[in-house]
Amino acid sequence: MAYDSNNIFAKILRGEIPCTKVFENDHVLAFNDIAPKAPVHVLIIPKGAYVSFADFSANATDEEIVALNRAVGEIAREKGIDATGYRLLANHAEHGRQDVPHYHVHLLGGADLGPCF
Ligand code: IMP
Repeated sequence: MAYDSNNIFAKILRGEIPCTKVFENDHVLAFNDIAPKAPVHVLIIPKGAYVSFADFSANATDEEIVALNRAVGEIAREKGIDATGYRLLANHAEHGRQDVPHYHVHLLGGADLGPCF
């Protein structure tokens, strides 16, 4: 699937749509989900144009991959949910029900999330 530069997260990265930013560095932007499913629901995205985890894991540089994963851990610590726990989720394509075609990791926590399955 080709990257669609009109997707909503691309617009957020370009500053065309506002977001509640919680973290940013050279490779990563993180912001609050607009429809949170938990007290903490942050979306962590690479600044590079990657459609999904499949694209990111195959085509991102090692530096980008490390930066994204380190950001996830740092945000969890900053949000104070490291000790109580959290859930990471990345939906991919049709069966994964991915809605926004720019790779993102959901960070959910701040309460007992219940069983995943
Ligand atoms: P997906 O189903 O994994 O693609 O998740 C997309 C997420 O993006 C959903 O949880 C939405 O609530 C969230 N979302 C959609 N538009 C915006 C926005 O403009 N700002 C922040 N989050 C958004």
